[in-house]
Parts: sequence; C-alpha cells; structure tokens
Amino acid sequence: MDEKLLEVKNLTFSFHTYGGVVKAVRDVSFDLKQGEVLGIVGESGCGKSVTSQCILKLNPEPPGFFEGGEILYKGQDIVKMSEKEMRAIRGKEIGFIFQDPMTSLNPTMKVGKQIEEIFVGRKDMTAAQKKEKALEILKLVGISDGEKRYNQYPHELSGGMKQRVMIAIALVGKPSIVIADEPTTSLDVTIEAQILDVLKNLQKEMNTSVIMITHDLGVIAKMCDRVVVMYGGKIVERGTVDEIFYHTKHPYTKGLLHSIARLDTDKNQRLEPIEGTPPDLFAPPKGCPFAARCEYAMEICSKLPPEIYHISEQHETECWLHHEFAPETDLNRKEA
Ligand code: SF4
Repeated sequence: MDEKLLEVKNLTFSFHTYGGVVKAVRDVSFDLKQGEVLGIVGESGCGKSVTSQCILKLNPEPPGFFEGGEILYKGQDIVKMSEKEMRAIRGKEIGFIFQDPMTSLNPTMKVGKQIEEIFVGRKDMTAAQKKEKALEILKLVGISDGEKRYNQYPHELSGGMKQRVMIAIALVGKPSIVIADEPTTSLDVTIEAQILDVLKNLQKEMNTSVIMITHDLGVIAKMCDRVVVMYGGKIVERGTVDEIFYHTKHPYTKGLLHSIARLDTDKNQRLEPIEGTPPDLFAPPKGCPFAARCEYAMEICSKLPPEIYHISEQHETECWLHHEFAPETDLNRKEA
C-alpha cells in the first residue's frame, strides 16, 4: 500500500468575493496511497470540501483561483491541466460521490440507463449485456429488486437507495480514486451504517483509494486508515486512525473527539461542543488559527504560526505545545 497515487503539495486555493479574498485552503499537503482510505475531517468551512474539489478542479474559477501548490496524480500536475484533460480524468480516473445524490443523478433519466452510461463507447457489449451488467451492479450495492429499480427515475427512490446508486456509478467504472464528500450526511443513522458498509466492501473488493470528507469522527473510525484534521483552511494534525483517536496531540482534535458520543460514553456524561467560532478567512490570524478557541493557548500562539512537529513516522501536528520548552500538558506528556 506504499505507492503514492496522489500527492497534494503546498496547495493554496482562494476565492475573490465582494468583501475581498477568502483564503479557503492554505498550504495544504498530503498524499494518498494505492488502496487506502484517507479521511479529511473538520467543521464546516474548514476547507475540506474545497480541498477535495480542487483535486477534480470542481471549484468555479473564477471566483476561485489556485494561489500555489501542486496536485500530482500519477506524476502529472492537475493544477496545470486544461478542461479537456480534466474531462478525461473526472469519473474515469477519479470518481466523486456527492453529499446530495440529486445534484449528480440526472432526474430525467431512468436509473438503469444512468448506470449503463459507465459502458458508453464499449462496442464489445450488446444492449442486453449492458442491462445485465447494470442489474448486477444494483445487486452489488444491495438493491435487491433490481429490475423494478432499473426502470425507475431517481425521485422514485429513497435517499439511501439513491446514494447506493451513486456509489455504484462512482466505483464500478473502476477509477483509481474515489472522493466521497459527506456521502451519508443527509441519511438517518441506520441507513448511514448500511451505506458505509457498501462503500467499504466495494472499496476493499476493488482496492480503490478513497478520500472521505466528513465532519464526523464516527465515520472516520469506521472507514479510514489515516486521517488529516483541518482547521481554518490548514492541516493541524495527521496520523493513523489509532494515533488520532488514542494519542491525540492537537487541542482542536481533542475538542472534536470530546464533542462526539462514543460507545463507551457514559449516558450521564455531557458532550462538550468546542466554544467559539472558526477564524475569519478574509484575514486569517497571523499565529495559530485555533488560538482564539484554544484552552491551551500561550502568548506565542497568537503571534507566530506553529511549526510542524513530527510525533512518529506518520503522526504530525502543528501546535506550539510540542516545542521542547512548552509547559507539560496531557497533550504533550511523554508517553511511556
Ligand atoms: Fe492551542 Fe497554541 Fe497549539 Fe494553537 S499552537 S492549538 S493555540 S496550544
């Protein structure tokens, strides 16, 4: 699983607005390896969706624009690609599952025909073979009454079923990477669990690399191998799922973990939301973006941006607490 399929290097993406330039993504770097599921987690407005949409150049330009950085896919820089080159990549090389399936399913076309679009240009397949394959795909994502669903329009399906169809369309064309942007946010918990199972099973079966965008650490725990935590347009911590959950090093990640219920959460224990609001990205703070909300903040934090501290081979964080002269806290105590 060591081959890097995608490398995002120092990506900075901004938007021109009437109020000025919004720096939505600032100096973000990460990579994605063959067959892994990478989670990008953070509150809304932290830059996670803009980052993921940069990979397929889906942010409107203008008003959006790349200020710097590279997105290397199989060694080629996506930032420099033309719209024509991107059309050859979208859906075929890199698939996208949106939060709301109605934004990407065609409401005027029957579900079966939309799945069959995967096989457009396949001269070796007859119409009957395409239909047979579409029915197989519906079965693969857990839709049992395939023949009936094949002939229905998207609005005739439930939210969960539409999302299954989206997953089928995104994965069955065998792209190298699938980006799933909050794919289960609009669904109830039971359906969410089923959809995540479908996605995980297909991902494993096809050895697809997945970037999972979510605000929900529960989804990260269930799906991902590694996690990138974003705040204020920047990455503040990254590591394996175990490192992020059990050896948390950044106050924001700690805050996120305390704001969700876990299986071992006592029912009388109060969940603690993170007080305050994210920074203004028109004028990002010159120091640490989390300083105004951080219970550990020190004088240096609002003056200088923190450096990157390497905790282990995979685990890194941008927080002054890990400077050798910082006072000891639960987040920087040396582990035995
Ligand atoms: Fe908190 Fe300072 Fe660390 Fe930022 S750098 S998260 S303000 S302790």
